[in-house]
Amino acid sequence: MKVIKTVSTMKALAREWRREGKRVGLVPTMGYLHEGHLSLVRESRGRADVSVVSIFVNPTQFGPNEDFKKYPRDLGKDSAYLREAGIDGLFYPEASEIYPPGYRTYVDIEGLQDRLCGRSRPGHFRGVATVVLKLFDIVGPDFAFFGAKDAQQVLIIKRMAADLNLDVEVVTCPIVREPDGLALSSRNAYLSPGERKAARVLSTSLRWAEKAVGAGERDAERLVAGIRSILEAEPLARIDYAEAVDPETLEPVAEIHGEVLVALAVFFGATRLIDNLRLNV
Ligand code: AMP
Repeated sequence: MKVIKTVSTMKALAREWRREGKRVGLVPTMGYLHEGHLSLVRESRGRADVSVVSIFVNPTQFGPNEDFKKYPRDLGKDSAYLREAGIDGLFYPEASEIYPPGYRTYVDIEGLQDRLCGRSRPGHFRGVATVVLKLFDIVGPDFAFFGAKDAQQVLIIKRMAADLNLDVEVVTCPIVREPDGLALSSRNAYLSPGERKAARVLSTSLRWAEKAVGAGERDAERLVAGIRSILEAEPLARIDYAEAVDPETLEPVAEIHGEVLVALAVFFGATRLIDNLRLNV
């Protein structure tokens, strides 16, 4: 596995791969890898001839009072995982390599970036879209792999790829969960034992919603109210949002019909976790 730290080296390597006719897979991450990330890595290994994982804690997607500084990092462990997984390249640039002095260009995905997580994290998706577009340019992947856990993120990246005619297939991979249902996340490391237990309520509420829809519930307001009451019964949980939305526009739906995304963001102490359920009725 090659560890690449500069844009020019990464571009040169990717150019060489393409010249050899190899199809390139890219898995963008912020590191502190877990089984969720590794599921994306395996998908890339299965589809592409060569696979690159990027590890970059992207400063532009964090708000001023967010956890950029304390975001968990463990390059030693991450590179061991990636070597074992058979990854060809680890792209690990410094922030100054991606955003050199004088940097001024950003990508806005109008409308989509202001809903759900965008409401409580203004500027977040602008940072995400910008760094992902830069990674697409640097690596030139045929495929890029994203987790369904970050449903709004995948939607935004797909929108950007379509709008800008990017030659990349954006692949969505299913949510990987702990045995008790909690979606894996690097931020789970922040949770105290009590908060970790409480965080089960996220998937519990979504499983309830799935059952309720299975039993015939079609009223979105009632469904969301049911989810909220399960979340509110957990004293350590503080709801940021719970919504049932159209998975393409992210606009709230009134009726559970066709494709619906039920999306949650909940604080446990200072840690904000997200989860979602995709319904097809
Ligand atoms: P992150 O390092 O948190 O930016 O995540 C990098 C990629 O891994 C994103 O595409 C995430 O959606 C994906 N990912 C994170 N957690 C999970 C999970 N539990 N299951 C599937 N994919 C995940």
